[in-house]
Amino acid sequence: MTDEEADDWNPHSRLCIARLRDHGVDMTGFAQTRELLPVPDIPGYRTLKCDFHLHTVFSDGDVWPTTRITEAWRDGLDAISFADHSDYNPHSDDVKNDPARAYELALPAAETLGIILIPGIEVGEDDLHCNALFITDSHSLRGGKLIETLQKARSQDAFVFWNHPGWKQPAEWFPLIADAYNAKLIQGMELVNGNSFYPEAYRWVEEKKLTILANSDAHEPVPQACAGGLRPITLVFARTADRAGIREALSARRTAAWMGGEVWGDESLLKMLWEAAVKVEGKERDLKPGGPPVGVRLRNDSAIPFRLHIGKGPDWLLGVQGDVLLPGQKAIEGPLSAAANAPAGRQRVEIEMEIKNLHVAPGRNLTVRLPLSLVLSQ
Ligand SMILES: [Zn+2]
Ligand SMILES: [Zn+2]
Repeated sequence: MTDEEADDWNPHSRLCIARLRDHGVDMTGFAQTRELLPVPDIPGYRTLKCDFHLHTVFSDGDVWPTTRITEAWRDGLDAISFADHSDYNPHSDDVKNDPARAYELALPAAETLGIILIPGIEVGEDDLHCNALFITDSHSLRGGKLIETLQKARSQDAFVFWNHPGWKQPAEWFPLIADAYNAKLIQGMELVNGNSFYPEAYRWVEEKKLTILANSDAHEPVPQACAGGLRPITLVFARTADRAGIREALSARRTAAWMGGEVWGDESLLKMLWEAAVKVEGKERDLKPGGPPVGVRLRNDSAIPFRLHIGKGPDWLLGVQGDVLLPGQKAIEGPLSAAANAPAGRQRVEIEMEIKNLHVAPGRNLTVRLPLSLVLSQ
């Protein structure tokens, strides 16, 4: 194989696109570049970007299944799941009424582009909708009462979450969800669905020990350049970047919801994410007590922008305080200076910061201490 031919195996290449067409993949809306959406891994875990709630023409979506794969690839995602309705298929005069078909059709494209495709379905009763992921027999989940359907899904070792809890009215812990939860049939909840965040549901994450999810619930094509903006993403912190890794991480509640500029998640996970994403550039800074300010650069290697509230370090350290934006994949520089009464020699100091868009509990954001190494010379 020549180098040129080898290049053609790269998923960015035209040949690869031609090959997808040979697989019968609809290339409509396929951008030929993948958005690099860096979100760093954290110690012990891969950080995977996922959307577990997508509709296709096999229920009430407007999109062919393989298009969901090319959109996910374009948007820099690692994993997706279809959530076609078990018992609602308005296209059934034109499209086979088969809850497993979207997955079957899209799997070759997913494997070609390296997207982890997880079998899923959306089941419901009245206004309570749930997604079951990792199902092995979607046909058996059609018809019937919701509790029985969820029991069947759980017997397939499905991971089940409550969709859009505040869909038609502010979220309520109403009798049917309580019954499903008490029967241990619900393990997670969409804290974000589409561009909706459900503040009234947030406290249940901790109260009920639910896994946090953020999904698009897209029925129409996902617009380009939506990722990192309005396309909601479930960040999954998985031991391995595969289905088994995702399944284990969902059960262990190692996820965060990312939508727009906001992230909701467990405090220790978001702290590791912050520490992996943001670094002080350079090793040490020389400061002269009473001398001119020196620039200190803070670099964000992730696609997540951070809204910082910079607090105080030691009294003798003077510099930026208050609200500052640290954009995604950029560095910012702020001046630091030392007061005349600063101690001499090598000093390790910490500056308190609140990260206002990393939400760790209702009404509480992540706080961190930014370590700095300074050398104070007379
Ligand atoms: Zn729904
Ligand atoms: Zn849906």
